[in-house]
Amino acid sequence: MTSSKPITEISRDFRFEAAHRLPNVPPDHKCFQMHGHSFRVTVVVEGELDPKLGWICDFAELARAWEPFHRALDHKVLNDVPGLENPTSELLAHYVAQRFDPPGGRLARVTVHETCTSSCTVRL
Ligand SMILES: [Zn+2]
Repeated sequence: MTSSKPITEISRDFRFEAAHRLPNVPPDHKCFQMHGHSFRVTVVVEGELDPKLGWICDFAELARAWEPFHRALDHKVLNDVPGLENPTSELLAHYVAQRFDPPGGRLARVTVHETCTSSCTVRL
């Protein structure tokens, strides 16, 4: 039995639709062509519980913190977004990880689900 404090994480999923192409793959690679995905991004925040409220932060505030990302990414061509000129799932996860500012706790992980079966996670 360890005496260390348990670590609490909360997460929230966000969805957006976007187009992209991967400019650095060979021209005969399918991802060289413009195509779209229904992206899902999972943001994980870890931290101490507020002793009175009993939570790390309000899920609704977490959703508000995502709103600028939705405006920047939803129904956009990701290649046109500054910082996403080569919009792989990996670089999209880093893009979010570098910019997402949780309203409480600290950002622990960002996962970009490009399809139902393919995803990338950045751990911070
Ligand atoms: Zn793709």
